[in-house]
Amino acid sequence: MKILIADDEQVSRLMLQRLLTKWGYEVVSAEDGISAWEQLNRPEAPRIALLDWMMPRRNGVDVCREMRAKRPEPYTYILLLTAKDAKESVVEGLESGADDYLTKPYHPQELKARLRVGIRLLELEDNLVQAREAMRFKATHDALTGIWNRGTILETLDREITRSQRESVSLGILMGDLDHFKSVNDTYGHLTGDDVLREATARIQACVRPYDAVGRFGGEEFLILLPGCDAKATAAKAEQLRATVGQPPIETLTGPLRVTMSIGAVATENWPDESAKQVLLMVDAALYRAKEEGRNRVAVAGSAEHEDAHHPSLEFSSQGQQKK
Ligand code: GH3
Ligand code: MG
Ligand code: MG
Repeated sequence: MKILIADDEQVSRLMLQRLLTKWGYEVVSAEDGISAWEQLNRPEAPRIALLDWMMPRRNGVDVCREMRAKRPEPYTYILLLTAKDAKESVVEGLESGADDYLTKPYHPQELKARLRVGIRLLELEDNLVQAREAMRFKATHDALTGIWNRGTILETLDREITRSQRESVSLGILMGDLDHFKSVNDTYGHLTGDDVLREATARIQACVRPYDAVGRFGGEEFLILLPGCDAKATAAKAEQLRATVGQPPIETLTGPLRVTMSIGAVATENWPDESAKQVLLMVDAALYRAKEEGRNRVAVAGSAEHEDAHHPSLEFSSQGQQKK
């Protein structure tokens, strides 16, 4: 565990340093508030800081306030060292965001015990952050494939449509659906079906750029967002995805399986004023046409879909499967 000592008096700094090193801590030090702030904002910065209250350039309480305002995470445990012991200054110190304080001269064993309290608090904090991140991941990702789930990809669609309209840049939207997937399950079982879904996802992800968004819209349906893609690039990407998912056959528990995907495509270049809902209806209608025209193909949304935009059975705001 790395600790920052910030104190303008060289003697107390060295004394502290000797103690902390003896107790097994790695020590970095600063002679004033500004360099303490800099130390605390480096990569791999100490998570515990012992700040002297009175320091030149910036005092410990101000460093503490600034840390709490500008650097909430990862949490830094701050212990103020002060010669002041009037009650008001204790209150001021703690209200600045310090976790604890010690009045000089302090007893080494007390400092040692208080540092242990700090480490315990940091461990609790880290566990909480980890749990929060795990929950956030679960709430936004699909458990089987690891890509965005339906709710998140739809939120992303809303955001990207708004951005594309504000910046007058085209957004490509693809809706892909594996062909005759029900028969994969029926013939080879659901575990093989799951293998196919995971591999199809991996192939889709390998085809797109890091800032494109791929989500599981329904069972074997993918929604893919391509920021910055005009109509031509969107159609080309759709064709590339279709080919990549279709070849080579997917290795599964029950041997290699050839799976194909039909794709509906639209670029907002041609429909700059449509809402996310309208665009989704168009891309869904195009997918429907790709299926009807024989599957394993790309259909680009055109005026026919636009006129037919009120596809009665597309429910995209609620959970669950998209109905066709
Ligand atoms: P089409 O070519 O018209 O798309 O035919 P299809 O069989 O792919 O379409 P349909 O919508 O009839 O069937 C989709 C199937 O996807 C049915 C369902 O059992 C399967 N499915 C949905 N989610 C999962 C999943 O998480 N795992 C597995 N193994 N199968 C799933
Ligand atoms: Mg299907
Ligand atoms: Mg389907």
